[in-house]
Amino acid sequence: MLLVEAGAAEGPEMMGVPSAWPSLMGSAADWGYVTVPQPGMDDLVLPYPRGKGLGGSSSINAMAFLRGHRAGYDGWARHGAAGWGYEDLLPYFKRSERAVGRDPAYRGTEGPMRVSPPADVHPMAPAYFAAAVEVGHPVSVDLNGKDAEGVSWLEMNIVDGARQSAADGYLRPVLTRPNLTVVPNASVSRLSLSAGRCTGIEYSVGGHSHSAGADREVILSAGTFGSAHLLMLSGIGPADHLREFDIDVVADLAGVGGNLQDHPLAGVTYAATRPVPSGPNNHSDVVAMLRSRPDLSVPDVELLFLTIAYHPPTLVGPVHGYTIGFSLMRPYSRGSVRLASSDPATAPLIHPNFLGDERDLSTMVTALEMAREVGETRALAEWRDRECLPGPVVRDGDTLRAYVRQVTGPYHHAVGTCRIGEDPLGVVDAELRVHGVSGLRVVDASVMPQIIGANTHATVLAIAERAASILTG
Ligand SMILES: Cc1cc2nc3c(=O)[nH]c(=O)nc-3n(C[C@H](O)[C@H](O)[C@H](O)COP(=O)(O)OP(=O)(O)OC[C@H]3O[C@@H](n4cnc5c(N)ncnc54)[C@H](O)[C@@H]3O)c2cc1C
Repeated sequence: MLLVEAGAAEGPEMMGVPSAWPSLMGSAADWGYVTVPQPGMDDLVLPYPRGKGLGGSSSINAMAFLRGHRAGYDGWARHGAAGWGYEDLLPYFKRSERAVGRDPAYRGTEGPMRVSPPADVHPMAPAYFAAAVEVGHPVSVDLNGKDAEGVSWLEMNIVDGARQSAADGYLRPVLTRPNLTVVPNASVSRLSLSAGRCTGIEYSVGGHSHSAGADREVILSAGTFGSAHLLMLSGIGPADHLREFDIDVVADLAGVGGNLQDHPLAGVTYAATRPVPSGPNNHSDVVAMLRSRPDLSVPDVELLFLTIAYHPPTLVGPVHGYTIGFSLMRPYSRGSVRLASSDPATAPLIHPNFLGDERDLSTMVTALEMAREVGETRALAEWRDRECLPGPVVRDGDTLRAYVRQVTGPYHHAVGTCRIGEDPLGVVDAELRVHGVSGLRVVDASVMPQIIGANTHATVLAIAERAASILTG
């Protein structure tokens, strides 16, 4: 088996340090993508980090490990991804993780990814937890178990104080296998296709071109941007779009690169009464999955209790501060990944279409008010000096909407550009085989038909576990 990765085998030293994850954005371990101007956000162009190196984005992510409400997966199955409902995926979630002291009906105890709530909590975290309870939110003892709603200690991939990426959990322990060759710093430029079959890949290392043939099949796991990009460069995608770039059409698959989704993320930022320490974890020991309206049947808002001030660099924040982040778990906006050029070295056009659907903007304003309600509690009084962003005077609907348009950014959970489906916009079948081409599967976040109601890494691992099971029969 040949594993080809564009980035390095080992990342910067800070990669292992949980609190250093924000510094990895813009580093050599990040592809450094940006969005096209976002019409729903006054045409702002946003950085859109993606991990480059073994472990991919799991090597630069914030290590939060959340599954999402079962309704999300059941929605996949109902909308054409047969066999991908929650009960179907549960064995694969369990197989991926080692979670101690949890309900074994829902949680795995033998998997490679060691996940747990924070061992040492941040000094501010108990006040955050108490604040969410003070305003009446329910407590969930395990958001990854039966009870996927409420305020909870966040489970993370942190082992003995260090990040555990997917490469740490799955790959590094088996690098000595005789049937595995890993080639880092190797950029795949195209899939090799012949008579409707994927026969291998073309890639380059240090400016030199190489090709590799596949005896059995090629598994494309280049992520939501990379997989759609490579399919289109290889002639698999919307025919009209490919012809604009003189690319021979191998399979006219209209869905490739469409259906891009992410959770929009923004925050209310406070000045603190004193310096907020960095803490041992990822700056967010507490999380809450909540409903923005009582008539909803599942949570649609995540509140993320950050012990750093997290806001766009264009806005002036406090010297010592903290942010209550808020994000939509069921956004309506849909975007796309499109070619900018037929040159593989040119980044694709990434258009997440944040706040493109009016309903998302409106729920973001409700979520801001939910964050603010928690931020104004007695439990946080010892930490709260004052609200800085948007600031206490920003109260009416129009100014709140303007603020949300100014500060929203990606939660980095891009999915959906090669989605499972048998309809005309489906890209892969239920066994993740690309329609119209043999010998080729896609296995990564891009196959999710709809974004799930949580951070995406745990679900990508379950998809990969399921793919492994399909491949090995
Ligand atoms: C900054 C950040 C923070 C995040 N925080 C969290 C979090 O706390 N919790 C959570 O659940 N999720 C988080 N996520 C999201 C989560 O990490 C991703 O959903 C998940 O890792 C995606 O996995 P993937 O396999 O689809 O793609 P990726 O992990 O992005 O992997 C794709 C791989 O393919 C390689 N590749 C791409 N193109 C080529 C090419 N042409 N040739 C060779 N190799 C190529 C890339 O270098 C990369 O290694 C975060 C993501 C980011 C970027």
